[in-house]
Amino acid sequence: MLECPILIAIDGPAGAGKSATAREVAVRLGLPYLDTGAMYRAVALLACREGLGPDLDERGRAAVVEIAAFLELSFSGDPRAQRVVVRGSDVTEALRAPEVSQMASMVSAIPEVRREMVRRQREIATRTGGVVEGRDIGTVVFPDAVLKVFLTAEPEVRARRRFEELTKRGARVRWDDVLSEQGERDRRDSTRSASPLRPAQGAVIIDSSRLSLAQVVDAVVALLSRTP
Ligand code: C5P
Repeated sequence: MLECPILIAIDGPAGAGKSATAREVAVRLGLPYLDTGAMYRAVALLACREGLGPDLDERGRAAVVEIAAFLELSFSGDPRAQRVVVRGSDVTEALRAPEVSQMASMVSAIPEVRREMVRRQREIATRTGGVVEGRDIGTVVFPDAVLKVFLTAEPEVRARRRFEELTKRGARVRWDDVLSEQGERDRRDSTRSASPLRPAQGAVIIDSSRLSLAQVVDAVVALLSRTP
């Protein structure tokens, strides 16, 4: 008899701790990990490299749709140290630049880009199952996932995490900018007409504001063990 692969969807706003949680849950359960944000970021990075800015006109949008259609992207390594490779070069660090974050939330609002990324995400994870992290995993990509988690935290807590992550990596950023850019990204992600960010039906909402990473991971693993 064919076993159905286990799919866990982890959605939520930027800085809620999705990546760290999804990676650890994947390691704990021995499942693959899929970072769908990295896919939108890769499209954004290539768009930035082609000189496109966040104010996209018709031609700019068409160029972005083409970039998405021909994106050559692969992931390598285990979930904790996963690398993202685009057209043969490692872009893992480049994907985290603040301008790429902003551009990612612009390109991800284009329906044709979403359609292409969703198609690829289904192709990758349907076969193997896994812990899939993003914004629309429980609502659109895998609404039948065995467990759907919506991970959130207070805006200041999320921005502080992002600020610490960026400064630890040597980026020179201002706290006010991190907070306001996060606010802009939250607003765009949750008000766009194509797959806005919102908890999926049946999702368990976890607020990580006052929880450690280990506590969040324990909570997700416990939820899985309680699912029929
Ligand atoms: O999760 P991460 O911050 O890497 O995602 C970057 C951007 O990609 C988000 O701000 C969002 O606009 C977009 N995204 C999305 N759908 C996903 C994953 C990410 O729209 N499933």
